[in-house]
Amino acid sequence: MTFLSNRINSLSESATLMMTKLGRELAAKGINVISLSIGEPDFNTPDHVKEAAKKALDENWTHYSPVAGYPELRQAIVNKLKRENNLDYDISQIVVSTGAKQSLSNAILTLVNPGEEVIIPTPYWVSYSEMVVLAEGKAVFIDTTIESDFKITPAQLEAAITPKTKLFMFSSPCNPTGSVYSREELAGLVEVFERHPQVFILSDEIYEHINFVGKHVSIAEFKSIKERVIIINGFSKAFAMTGWRLGYIAASKELAAANEKMQGQTTSGTSSISQRAGIAAYEQGLESVLEMKKAFARRRELVYNLLNDIPGVKTNLPDGAFYFFPEISSFFGKKDTNGNVIKDSADLALYLLNVGHVATVGGDSFGNNNYIRISYAASDESLIEALKRIKEVLAQLS
Ligand code: PMP
Ligand code: GLU
Repeated sequence: MTFLSNRINSLSESATLMMTKLGRELAAKGINVISLSIGEPDFNTPDHVKEAAKKALDENWTHYSPVAGYPELRQAIVNKLKRENNLDYDISQIVVSTGAKQSLSNAILTLVNPGEEVIIPTPYWVSYSEMVVLAEGKAVFIDTTIESDFKITPAQLEAAITPKTKLFMFSSPCNPTGSVYSREELAGLVEVFERHPQVFILSDEIYEHINFVGKHVSIAEFKSIKERVIIINGFSKAFAMTGWRLGYIAASKELAAANEKMQGQTTSGTSSISQRAGIAAYEQGLESVLEMKKAFARRRELVYNLLNDIPGVKTNLPDGAFYFFPEISSFFGKKDTNGNVIKDSADLALYLLNVGHVATVGGDSFGNNNYIRISYAASDESLIEALKRIKEVLAQLS
């Protein structure tokens, strides 16, 4: 469409959202679709958080908030960072947004000039590369596979850095692989960053509490590079608050001020009611998160065993988040019963949706075509049924 900007024409559609939309469309036709495409907890927001939102409405917290968020919420975030992560920040270093997604976008637009390079290990969350496209930066990928548990080495990082590198961005626990970098592994990467003081680090920690191997380690804990780290976090995953649109950054004062300026010209402060609810979420501790984590731990075992029982599928056991990213390339080149060839992971995801009625997401949009992403934030019964269907329809390919 010629009247649209080059910017929008060069942007890919979000595959997580597209597959979810397709799944919803099939479901609206009366088909029993199991959605394992969108990454969101299947739990409800805890009651005490909902109560705080109701109270906020009654107390008329319904006006514009400060662009960077209410001071009480920013203070609650500062307290959380100290209490849970042993990190010292001041409220001037916190900018609240309409979700971690906006925080990521703000940070990239604030830092990256056209042509500057942004290093992204693959697989990465679908929107990372597209946000770099919007900033007219150049994404530089470091490829990983299931054999290295989808993690990069310091040598790979060193080799990817050039004089044009501005930013490195990653998530740990990772969406889509669930991989978690240990303190030692992060220390190895930090040594490389110490040699390249022009590189900033965008650390997406939104899955910090869904970690099955130990306590979360933030790369901002390494003092030598802390000034260059932008922590991204939010309430969507930890408190099942995806619809409330509440996220934030913690960064140097200068970067925080720049992100506030960016947001002041785009969305302004996020929903006043969500912010008041966010204060309650952080003040009341982690009980509900720990309950959710227990369920995720059980489902992780369940899905791991079911995936291992499917011929042609290879998987690892993810250390965190609520996704599996199994290798499925053995099905490429095979045909469905109508003679259509499965050429890539997007085809396979569409096949699983249209024939098996299970929504997943092809790995190509996460930067690794040989895989698909399966979210296990669904009930045990749905997961058992979904994996049964996947097994059956994959066996029909020949
Ligand atoms: N980062 C990662 C790695 C994610 O998976 C998501 C999706 N939930 C986000 C950021 C965005 O989250 P939010 O709902 O806070 O915008
Ligand atoms: N982050 C979630 C996912 O990966 C939500 C959907 C999205 O915004 O991409 O599925």
